[in-house]
Amino acid sequence: MTLVFSGNDYKYEIEGVMKLFIPATLFTIVYEDKLPCDDEYAFVRMKLLDKHALLYVICSYDGKKVHKKCKADKGEDYELCLSRLLFTAMSELTGRTPKWGIITGIRPVKQVNKYLGADMNREEIFDAMQREYLCSREKCEIALKTAQTQKKVLDSLDKNSFSLYVSIPFCPTRCSYCSFVSQSIEQCMGQIPLYIENLCKEIRFTGEIVKKLGLTLDTIYFGGGTPSTLEAPVLERLMKTIAESFDLSHLREYTVEGGRPDTITAEKLEAIKRNGCERVSINPQTLNDSVLERIGRKHTSEQFFEAFELARKAGFECINTDIIAGLPGDTPESFAYTVDKLIEMGAENITVHTLSIKRAARLNHEREDGVLENPADVMVDYATKRLLENGYLPYYLYRQKNMLENLENIGWTKPGKESLYNIYIMEEIQTIIAVGAGGSTKLVDLENKRLERVFNYKFPLEYNKHFELMLQRKKETENFYALEK
Ligand code: SF4
Repeated sequence: MTLVFSGNDYKYEIEGVMKLFIPATLFTIVYEDKLPCDDEYAFVRMKLLDKHALLYVICSYDGKKVHKKCKADKGEDYELCLSRLLFTAMSELTGRTPKWGIITGIRPVKQVNKYLGADMNREEIFDAMQREYLCSREKCEIALKTAQTQKKVLDSLDKNSFSLYVSIPFCPTRCSYCSFVSQSIEQCMGQIPLYIENLCKEIRFTGEIVKKLGLTLDTIYFGGGTPSTLEAPVLERLMKTIAESFDLSHLREYTVEGGRPDTITAEKLEAIKRNGCERVSINPQTLNDSVLERIGRKHTSEQFFEAFELARKAGFECINTDIIAGLPGDTPESFAYTVDKLIEMGAENITVHTLSIKRAARLNHEREDGVLENPADVMVDYATKRLLENGYLPYYLYRQKNMLENLENIGWTKPGKESLYNIYIMEEIQTIIAVGAGGSTKLVDLENKRLERVFNYKFPLEYNKHFELMLQRKKETENFYALEK
């Protein structure tokens, strides 16, 4: 399809809006003042006059054509005006109205927080989100509720605090939809002992840096990968190294992502509980066994039930469960069963992801399978309705590129059980120091609006090989805080 720009160069935004309607399409970009000869195109024109601009959109798609035009006053955001015009035209042509409207590049909760900061009330916020971004009231409600749940966490944030992320980039097998830096355990068995050795060194090294800087450790998060791929004594060794290297007296949250239920044993759960962790994540993704098999998870729903039970027996009072809407082969009925079952089991956190088709994931090659023609929106609506009915609150929300139906990922929580770490990472309001391969340290200085990243090597092999060099890079953390003073 051809996108023609006349009098403007709003390529990024306009392409983003087009992808809401026809996500798998490749666009040819042309800059000229006339309509193309192609059958399918969007012509986006802006004519600047003294006191205003005239905006035009002509879309030709699927044998139909729609013209739209409007006048935008000087000072208005012309890019937004053109995006709205295009959205309306494509909505007429395709008969679809994506519920987040033209919100593509910005985070909805951040926008709502901005409105809240300007003392706008609920109705004014809904009006603004609809007027500016054509966002549905339903999605506005979710963004506003999320902002409200986050408020007390944001208010309690100590500006001198940080979180520690420990990366364990190994999994028992690789899931077909995975786009994380994770390797199957068979592939990298040989690297693990040295990896653990180095990881302990990096933890100690980081402990020294934060001691010097006088930072307070607020939350710890073991993620990956699947941290519970490691054996109990190894997990224990890492956790003990952390306890020896940092002052844990101000710690407010400690999470270990179990992830795959097939890696969880009573011994591992007891080891992590004994070492101070009180939040685990056990992720079924779906409770439909045939879908689990199809996505290469290599575990059953029964194994999830057993792992969940083991975690309760070990004394965990906060269990997160991740699920995904839109998995190949899943149906609205079996997705509804998954949601209802998790609510019935009393999971404190339920995170509803929408399948994101990233290049790295093998599913990218399965599009003929109908993965784009997918009932993900029905599933997400169902989850939202049932979770709200059962007293769960949305506490973090984010959207990625290439998500089915331009939907979102939402972390839901029972009141008071929200994960601080998840809010920090999404809202970029606290420094997160990462250790391990694939980890990226995010240094945050809210007062001076500075954000810097320091990347560790991506894969365990490189991490082991360039370990000393990487430790030196970590010293950038000190420079960042030196500038703050
Ligand atoms: S468990 Fe998670 S990190 Fe591991 S392969 Fe599957 S999706 Fe990727």
